[in-house]
Parts: sequence; structure tokens; C-alpha cells
Amino acid sequence: MSIIQKYDKHVMKSYGRLPLAIESGSGVNAVAEGGKTLIDFGSGIGTNSLGFCDSDWVEAVCKQAQTLQHNSNYYYNKPGADFAEKLCRITGYTNMFFGNSGAEANECAIKIARKYSFDKYGKNRHTIITLVNSFHGRTIATLSATGQEEMHNYFFPFVGGFVHAEANNIADLKAKLDDSVCAVMFEYVQGEGGVTPLEQDYVDELFKLCKAHDVLTIADEVQTGTGRTGKFLAGEHYGKKADLTTLAKGIGGGLPLGVCLAGKKCANVLAAGTHGSTYGGNPVILAGALAVLNKVSREGFLAEVIKKGEYIKEKLSALDEVAKISGKGLMLGITLKNKKAVDVMKSALEAGLLTLTAKEKLRLLPPLVIDYESIDKGLAILIQTLND
Ligand SMILES: *Cc1c(COP(=O)(O)O)cnc(C)c1O
Repeated sequence: MSIIQKYDKHVMKSYGRLPLAIESGSGVNAVAEGGKTLIDFGSGIGTNSLGFCDSDWVEAVCKQAQTLQHNSNYYYNKPGADFAEKLCRITGYTNMFFGNSGAEANECAIKIARKYSFDKYGKNRHTIITLVNSFHGRTIATLSATGQEEMHNYFFPFVGGFVHAEANNIADLKAKLDDSVCAVMFEYVQGEGGVTPLEQDYVDELFKLCKAHDVLTIADEVQTGTGRTGKFLAGEHYGKKADLTTLAKGIGGGLPLGVCLAGKKCANVLAAGTHGSTYGGNPVILAGALAVLNKVSREGFLAEVIKKGEYIKEKLSALDEVAKISGKGLMLGITLKNKKAVDVMKSALEAGLLTLTAKEKLRLLPPLVIDYESIDKGLAILIQTLND
């Protein structure tokens, strides 16, 4: 049986998988079963931020696997210490919690927000406002937080205490900001929801309102973080730093890591025994993640991410089939005029280019390290597909 046949026989069909088995990869090139090479404009949904098998990342991971692969959270280890120190230096946050995914990072932020409020104000101040079209994860709590009604199905009852407000609508936020609210959670650029950035005025007002009511801000930067938008955190584009910020996807460079970052205000909300994760903070993963931080925080690296994004935007904007391009840095959403994004994704894959979709848009999340030659190669395939 082939790879695909074994999957289809034994792995649950919870994904609409495309007929491609990737066997190896190097930089921005994926090699499929059978030897076909594809250019990667998807980064494994933004996870392989340094591309496939970056040599520094591989070396860090392998060395750590040969030294100490795990030691439980009852003890300390060096990769965790070094990674935490570096991430705080880059972001200006002071403390963090390690989980294994975006959903877990958000779950942690939700728990911190509720406990912060409980400690200070007592019961019944537990509501978290999230935005319509947001995506916060697939666990029952983070799915409840996710502001997409069509995803609130089958798994009843959902977790209470989540209210959805319309993005970029300050009146709706004000109307929903009652005495029961402890936090507002949002993505600066909604990813799964269609690569839709929040407006500056809205973000300004949101922060002002939250501050006035001692309501915590939670920035879900699972997709936008780790340099994806050309700043280490997308909040930097807006001149904002949320009380809590969550990271996952690109931070692990292709291994599962979720981080919930807190400043002084929320640094000590989680006392011993109130939260945990067996694998959270695994040293092999954090050794790799430190290699990601080292590369992304290099002088000039993020400025390049912005330039590359602008370059791609410019090239694609010239096409008849392209109606509009949204997003920042190397997180781009392309609205098409006539073609369906999912059809374009499938044709591009046939032609040797990996892309993604987000709602009705074609979505590009190329590895942050992509070079211009590879951008041009990928664009040539995409342009041909769009012009076809
Ligand atoms: C992908 C994503 C998540 C969920 O991350 P998982 O690692 O799949 O749990 C949460 N929030 C945002 C913004 C995401 O893009």
C-alpha cells in the first residue's frame, strides 16, 4: 500500500487532504513521494518559518535529542532557560507558559484572564469577548472562543462565557463590554478567517476601553507572531502590547510549541498547581525554537520579510485575476475575481507549488527565509495558474 492508501485506511478523515505525500524537504523545496519537487508557499501553515530542515535548527534539535530529550516540568533545563530569556528580550514580556499548540497557548491565556479577574474581583466576571471570524483553536474551549458560528456544531454543549463582537466595530464592542467581561481576545490579522487585518483606530479604541475597565487584552499571535508579518509581533505594527500574547505555529520552526506570554500584570496569576502540561517546554523543541529566535532576531531579517511581502504583492496585483491582496509581511490573502481559491490551490499543487486558502481567499505563508529566486519561481507557477 502507498503512503496515501495507508492513511486513508487507518487515519481518521478529519482533514480534506490533498493527494500529496511529502517525503523530504530542504529550504523552500518539498520533495514528494516519487521525487517531484515543489516550491513551498505554505510553510506547513506557517510552522516551518525557517523552511524545511534549516541546518542551524536541525543541529540544535539533534544535539539536544542526544543530550536530554525531556525531564518533566518538576525540574529545570538549559534550553528552556535560554529560550525564555531570549524571547523576553525580544518581546519585552517578562514571563511565559509553555504548551504544545496554539489552542493550548490560548487555553492558558483564557485561564489566566479568568483567574486574574477572580483573584481581584471574585466570581461572575469571566466573560471573554472574541471577534467574529476569529480562529482560536479546536479544543472545546478554544472552539467556543472561535467566532465562527458554522464551527459551533455537533459538539454541544460548548463552553459558556464567550461572546463574539464584530471586528472593526467599536460600537458592538462597547455594547458587549458589560460587568461580566474579564478579557477581549483578538488576532491583529485574522488568519483562518481570511487574512483580515484589524484597523488601527479600532485597535486603539479597544485598548483604551479595556484599560479603562481593567479588562485584559489577549493577542492571539499564533499565526501572526514570530516575524510572520515582518515585525516579531504583529502588535508592533499597531504600537500595541497586549496583556497576554500567544504564540505557536512559526515559533517551533516545525516542532509543536505553544507559548503564552505575560507582562508584570499577569506574571504571577498561575500559582503552582493551577495549570500544567506534561510535554510543555520540552527541551528538544525549545532548543530548535531558540535557533528560530536567533535567526529571526538577526539585524535586518524582519525588514527583509516586509520587502519580500511587498514584492509578492506588487507582482500579483498586476494580474487581471487578482481583485485585492490583504495581509502584512509574508502573510498574504488574495481575493480572486473569477477563479475559486481552492481550485487554484489544487492546480498550483499539480504544477509544483504549495499554497493555502483562508475562507474564499488564496493564502500565502512562505517560509520567512525564502530568497528572491525561489519567490520568482513560485510566482511564475502561480501566475501561470491564475492566467490559465
Ligand atoms: C492555527 C491557529 C490556532 C490553533 O493552533 P493549533 O496549534 O492548531 O492548536 C489558534 N489561533 C490562531 C490565530 C491560529 O492561526
